[in-house]
Amino acid sequence: MIAEILCVGTELLMGQVLNTNAQFLARRLSGLGITLQHQSVVGDNEQRLRDAYKLALSRADVVITSGGLGPTVDDITKRVAAQLAGKELVLNPEAEAALRERFAAFHRDMPLNNLSQAMFTEDSILLPNPNGTAPGAIVPMGEGKVVIHLPGPPFELQPMFINHAEPWLQARSGKVLVSRYIRIFGMGESTVDELLQDLEQQSNPSLSPYCSIGEVQLRATACADTEQEAAAMLEPLIAEIRRRLGDVIYAVNDTDTGSLAQTTVELLKKHHLTVATAESLTGGMIAAAMVEVPGASEVVKGGFVTYQSVAKTMLLDVPAEMIDEYDVVSSQVAIAMAKGAREKLGVDIAVSATGLAGPGGGTEERPVGTVFLGLSDKNGTRAIPLHLTGNRERIRTLSMKNALNEVRKALLELEK
Ligand code: ATP
Repeated sequence: MIAEILCVGTELLMGQVLNTNAQFLARRLSGLGITLQHQSVVGDNEQRLRDAYKLALSRADVVITSGGLGPTVDDITKRVAAQLAGKELVLNPEAEAALRERFAAFHRDMPLNNLSQAMFTEDSILLPNPNGTAPGAIVPMGEGKVVIHLPGPPFELQPMFINHAEPWLQARSGKVLVSRYIRIFGMGESTVDELLQDLEQQSNPSLSPYCSIGEVQLRATACADTEQEAAAMLEPLIAEIRRRLGDVIYAVNDTDTGSLAQTTVELLKKHHLTVATAESLTGGMIAAAMVEVPGASEVVKGGFVTYQSVAKTMLLDVPAEMIDEYDVVSSQVAIAMAKGAREKLGVDIAVSATGLAGPGGGTEERPVGTVFLGLSDKNGTRAIPLHLTGNRERIRTLSMKNALNEVRKALLELEK
């Protein structure tokens, strides 16, 4: 299958906007094993766009357009393609409903010219656009050739291409895609990026990073004739990533699932060890994350939610004088909490968290985001200070993830 990229927009032609869509599409097509022989840019001019379509369709099976799907008169991409195919653009009821719904959701009246965004040839396959008003489309052009229309804004084009156009192209190309998901905790996105820059430039296998709170996930995808071949292509890449990043990789999964809690629970099971939690600012989040993993009852013995100081003293035997002397947010209290939980529940490992989630309560000495974790196992009890930033939710989530990661690291130590 041969593809060609045709980007539409005078702003691209004049150099006002950098053509990042072409770069994105070229990389993705190469990852799909689809041959790309030409890419071009054309301004918002009917005659020149028609000529560009004709040329592209004379040499490619699939012509992918970007831009010109808006509601204004210079948005001509769909209309010119339909004319070339000898077909009419008609109002598509599904697209119209989605458009009206979108305007209603934003409490805005829909200008009539927006209806042009819901006009397609009758044989078009629509590509949903949850990030904008203009759906994309796969338009049959005769002789087995198609034009795929995508919107101009990259944040609309990229998910539309990955989620809707790629599966369609993949099914046509006869190639198989295999992905692995590499999950990372304890290293920022920019450091990961710096260490893997050269690998991220490759197209097959391709490597794309995604981020969530405190975590980076990499999706490695290979395209080949068979599943085995694609899987084999991923092996050296993953080995190289492991070599460069080391223990910050907590899981490599075949599917887009998995979590720090899952890895931690699996490691606990593997070593037949039990765990308990002593939580202040996380209020049970650490225990809840582990309990979410099926089969956690084998290793998670229990936990204490000790939010006020009095609860830390009553339930975990943290001396009140210690809290007075060092402050409730201190390494001493974190250690005493972890020790208390380990002794009370008789577990192999206990983890604790005390800290300031904010928004109020911070001081110069202990600003919001100051957190101490405690970890108690057969090697002793230690405190891990954290200096977190962000809002209350983010600080609590990061505390929970760091606590799980400390348990994971302690378990890895046991394996050494
Ligand atoms: P809209 O409904 O927002 O008008 P559209 O599909 O009509 O979308 P255009 O009007 O052509 O798209 O482009 C909208 C914006 O998207 C441009 O101003 C530009 O910022 C960005 N854009 C368009 N094409 C590209 C491209 N090839 N690469 C990067 N950005 C682009």
